[in-house]
Amino acid sequence: MPSVTSRLLDIQSRIPRGVTLVAVSKFHPVEAIREAYDAGQRDFGESRAQELAVKAPAMPDDVRWHFIGHLQTNKVRQIMPHVSMIHSIDSIRLLRTVDSEAARIGRTVDVLLQVHVAREETKFGFTPDELLAELPAQWQPADTPSVRVRGVMGMASLTDDNSRIAADFSEIARVFRELREGLFAGVATFDTISMGMSDDFGIAIDAGSTMVRIGTDIFGAREY
Ligand SMILES: *Cc1c(COP(=O)(O)O)cnc(C)c1O
Repeated sequence: MPSVTSRLLDIQSRIPRGVTLVAVSKFHPVEAIREAYDAGQRDFGESRAQELAVKAPAMPDDVRWHFIGHLQTNKVRQIMPHVSMIHSIDSIRLLRTVDSEAARIGRTVDVLLQVHVAREETKFGFTPDELLAELPAQWQPADTPSVRVRGVMGMASLTDDNSRIAADFSEIARVFRELREGLFAGVATFDTISMGMSDDFGIAIDAGSTMVRIGTDIFGAREY
């Protein structure tokens, strides 16, 4: 099996400049993360609060940890000292909790609003309508000064139909553009579209992704 380093270099060669690679290390040991780190990777993604809280202190301080899984409000405190960006904000309540926990330890945290476009009902996130029509009536950026909303995150439907996947990613990119022209007009740091995983990152980049989250293609299959 090819090494983590060779897989990482292969992925990096397929990602255009300007697109950030988040290496999704969930369920993989610190040794594998260390190998990717030694190959130059600095952005890593985890999906469980407890796992992030254990791994972060075992790695150098210049790692940027991305939290990409569903986040319960009672787990926010656990990740706050470590996390660089939270991709999975799926309610205003969670946004407010993240803000107060960041303020409590005197920091600012970058977050993304998770958009639900996939057909599966089990996926978390705001619907496009909730983000475009309801959010502006209930929340303004100034309400949560310790949070910096950097953009959106989303996932495509679980399907082999590439045109369906492309349509889902286009919809996420549309929501991003409408927010950038609306609620976040003039906010220069609203600049991130996190979409694309091992199986679909090429389609996501074509649709405008600026950040891809890749696990399996770098670290191999996960054992759950
Ligand atoms: C696990 C996970 C990924 C990485 O998926 P791969 O198919 O292994 O690349 C990306 N995004 C989210 C939200 C995940 O939970």
